[in-house]
Amino acid sequence: MALHLHPSPTPYALCNLLLSLSAAGDLPRGQQLHAHLLKSGHTPSSSPSSPLFILSTHLITLYSRCSLPLFSLRAFLDLPSPSSSSWSALISSLSRNSLPSLALLTFRRMLAAGLPPCDRTLPSAAKSLATISDPSASAALHSLALKFSLSPYNVFAASSLLDMYAKCGRLADARQLFDEIPERNVVSWSALIYGYAQFAGLEHEALHLFRAALQPGGCGVNDFTLSCIVRVCAAATLLELGSQVHSLCFKTAYDVSPFVGSSLVSLYSKCGLVDNAYQVFHEMPERNLGSWNAVLMASAQHGHSSLAFNRFQEMQRLCPHSPNFITFLCLLTVCSHAGLVSEGRQYFALMSNYGIEPNSEHYAAMVDILGRAGKLKEAIATIESMPVTPTESVWGALLTGCRLHGDMETAAYAADKVFDLGCEGSGAHMLLVNAYATAGRYAEAAEARKAMRDRGVRKETGLSWLELDQGKVHTFVSGDRSHSRMEEIYGVLEEVGKKMEAMGYVADTSWVGRDVDGEEKRRSVGYHSERLAIGLGLLAVAPPRPIRVMKNLRVCGDCHNAIKYLTKCTGRTVILRDNRRFHRFEDGICSCGDYW
Ligand SMILES: [Zn+2]
Ligand SMILES: [Zn+2]
Repeated sequence: MALHLHPSPTPYALCNLLLSLSAAGDLPRGQQLHAHLLKSGHTPSSSPSSPLFILSTHLITLYSRCSLPLFSLRAFLDLPSPSSSSWSALISSLSRNSLPSLALLTFRRMLAAGLPPCDRTLPSAAKSLATISDPSASAALHSLALKFSLSPYNVFAASSLLDMYAKCGRLADARQLFDEIPERNVVSWSALIYGYAQFAGLEHEALHLFRAALQPGGCGVNDFTLSCIVRVCAAATLLELGSQVHSLCFKTAYDVSPFVGSSLVSLYSKCGLVDNAYQVFHEMPERNLGSWNAVLMASAQHGHSSLAFNRFQEMQRLCPHSPNFITFLCLLTVCSHAGLVSEGRQYFALMSNYGIEPNSEHYAAMVDILGRAGKLKEAIATIESMPVTPTESVWGALLTGCRLHGDMETAAYAADKVFDLGCEGSGAHMLLVNAYATAGRYAEAAEARKAMRDRGVRKETGLSWLELDQGKVHTFVSGDRSHSRMEEIYGVLEEVGKKMEAMGYVADTSWVGRDVDGEEKRRSVGYHSERLAIGLGLLAVAPPRPIRVMKNLRVCGDCHNAIKYLTKCTGRTVILRDNRRFHRFEDGICSCGDYW
């Protein structure tokens, strides 16, 4: 609709009009007003108190609200001498519209122009630093705030600094600031909870703080806090606690938030209850891009490929946001889990229609799809077409293909490439050891294993865990004897093992890497950590509830086969999540169709 202006509107009237257009995010009419100002010769005045000057600052904000940060910059550059409010409007526009580096550069220019940081520019700069996660600059910004005696204890400034420290991984600084500030609000609590939630092993701290926030004297919670804490429960697969938080979300009506809803979808999916995940998604009154991605990931993890493809169609129709790189990662994961090569190629090609450059994770997924299907030449061609240096995970994906299809020559090529990358973590070392072993270069495999030991790199220990009714998590390692009910656990496994053998199960000892004799091999496979956790499940989880077990590494072929027999002889359902996907074992069959 065209804008109708009074024949000679006063600058104040124009200011008010622009403010309301800006609040409504009305770009077409906002631009008409901008054009009118230019045509009628209303050039911005250099006096910051003049209405025309204020008008120019409102224009910067209008473009910011309409996600056009470079138009904000244009409007700013038209100012003969920008005031501190114009600088802050521009920095805020760049920061909130995903241009953090440019926002920081502008912040530096502002300082160089002799203007001090203020309560408005400091949070924008802190937010930008949080986005690019620059730990050293974050401390500098904090000192700057102190130097200009900006009260870092002002609750808004403090929350933004705290959030910055948490997102840059400087948790000790975040904690110190949190303890120092006299007044905390829900944003400062949430920022610290978020910080702890980001790091594996600090979930405990996050939960502790969350409980404190709910106590009298805490500040309560908001949708951001709840969604953080649900993510903590999802990452640690704490279903019991997660469901309690779900009830709290319901009671506080925060369950309508798309952020909370998306986290709940991930929680139920990661805990193996995919139907609950789908139900949460269906009941969401409002969905954002994250919600669609969460439900696609749930379908990917549980191998529901046609459901995922239909949902992607639905997403293109209903979701106002375009699919992003995570959406495509979910789709490629679906294809990889189901062995769908042509669909994988299609989705990979479709990314460019949405202007998304595939990153190394997308390439790894594509190489995985091709490698598993035995299309190793095409997998190599894909790697060679990469515009950036292939990462460890890309070569790892190729190697999985080589191992499955016994291609020693390609494995040797991949091994050399992994070696060239230089090994750091245990993942890369193991990758190299396996690459040499797959290529039949045993001497080099042994050497790589020795190098790994010499450098003190340990192979990641296989862990399996099971959460029982009271929310208590029981963790096992292979051959574990430390659990209080160990006698019973070994007893029940022995007993079921006899029935399994009677049905035709034969232990496949080729999955044991160590050089031990036959009986020892059979024993160590029989007591892999997931088998012990399932043993406890047989004792402590009442039928017909499924036994839900999580594992940090990939399940071995023998355990996979054994669990199929176990469900057939016991009539139980076992849901096992390994580091790759979910396996739902029922009556001797696994939902992955033995493709994992
Ligand atoms: Zn195993
Ligand atoms: Zn399976």
